[in-house]
Amino acid sequence: MAEGKQQKDAAACKYLLLLDMNGTLCYRTEDRIKTVREDLYVRKRYYYARVGIENFVNKLAETDRFVICVYTSMMAHNVQAGINAIMPRACKHLEKVLDRDMNKPDPNKINEWDTIRDMDKVWKEIPGFGPTRTILLDNESRKFQETPRNGIVVPEFGADEAKSRQGDTLDHVLEYLLELSEAQPDDVCEYIETHSSEEESAPALEEISADFDEKLKIETTPDPEPGTRLDLNNIEGGIVTYTNFHLGLQVGIPLNNDIRFDKCMDFQLLRELCKEELSISWNKSGEDGETVY
Ligand SMILES: [Mg+2]
Repeated sequence: MAEGKQQKDAAACKYLLLLDMNGTLCYRTEDRIKTVREDLYVRKRYYYARVGIENFVNKLAETDRFVICVYTSMMAHNVQAGINAIMPRACKHLEKVLDRDMNKPDPNKINEWDTIRDMDKVWKEIPGFGPTRTILLDNESRKFQETPRNGIVVPEFGADEAKSRQGDTLDHVLEYLLELSEAQPDDVCEYIETHSSEEESAPALEEISADFDEKLKIETTPDPEPGTRLDLNNIEGGIVTYTNFHLGLQVGIPLNNDIRFDKCMDFQLLRELCKEELSISWNKSGEDGETVY
C-alpha cells in the first residue's frame, strides 16, 4: 500500500477531540486563591490547572486515535500562555489551538460576549472530520448547542476544586474516552448516546457527571459543623494551618496581620475573619461526622 494511502487510512480512524479551557481544563479567575499557588498570572488573571490534565492529554495521545485540540472562547493572546502553563509536558500533543475567532455569537446570549462553537468553521479548518468523528468536551452544554450529540459535559472546574488541588474528573473522562477509542465507533454521537444516562439524550455523561459531583462534594466541600474547634498546627510559607486531628480536618488560612491567630480557634470565627480564603481538607481516615466542641 502506498504510504500516502496508509496515512489517509490512519487519519480516517481518528477522532477529533476538542477540549474547552476555562471550567474544563483550567480555572481562570481575577481573584487569587491565596492558599494555592497559581500556574500562571497574566493580564490580571490567575490560571489554575485541573488535577490530572497532563496525564489526560498524554494518555489520549498515546492511543494515536485522537486529533487533540483546545477549543476555547478565550482570546488568542491569552490562550497559548495558559496552555503552556497548565500542561507544559503535554502541550506538544495539541494539533491546533482554536481561539475566540473560531467561535460565533450565541443566538441565545445572556451576556454580550457569549459565544458558541462554530463547527462549520472547525471542520473547514481541520479537514477530514465531521459530525460522526468529532467530540466536544465542555463544562457548558450551551457552547455546543448546535451539535448537542457531539458534546460531553464535564463537571465544572471551579474555585472549590482548584483550592482543594484534588479531583478525579479528568481520570474518569479519560477512562471513558479510552473505552470509546477501543470500541472504535463509526459514529461517536451514537456511542455517546448509548453510553450515558437513559433519561438524558444530550448532553451526554450526565450520569457520570452526577457521580463526579458527588465525589467532589465528599472530597472538597463539606464545612465543619458550627462550633468545631481547631488547634494551631503550624505557620509555614505564609499559611497558618489549623487542625482537628479527631475529625481528620485541616484548615489553611493565609497569614494576615489583621487577624489575631489564637492557639485554639472556632472554625466559624475563622470563616468570618477570612471570608473565602480558607482551604479545607478532610483526611478520610479521620472520624468524619463527630464534632468536638
Ligand atoms: Mg468552559
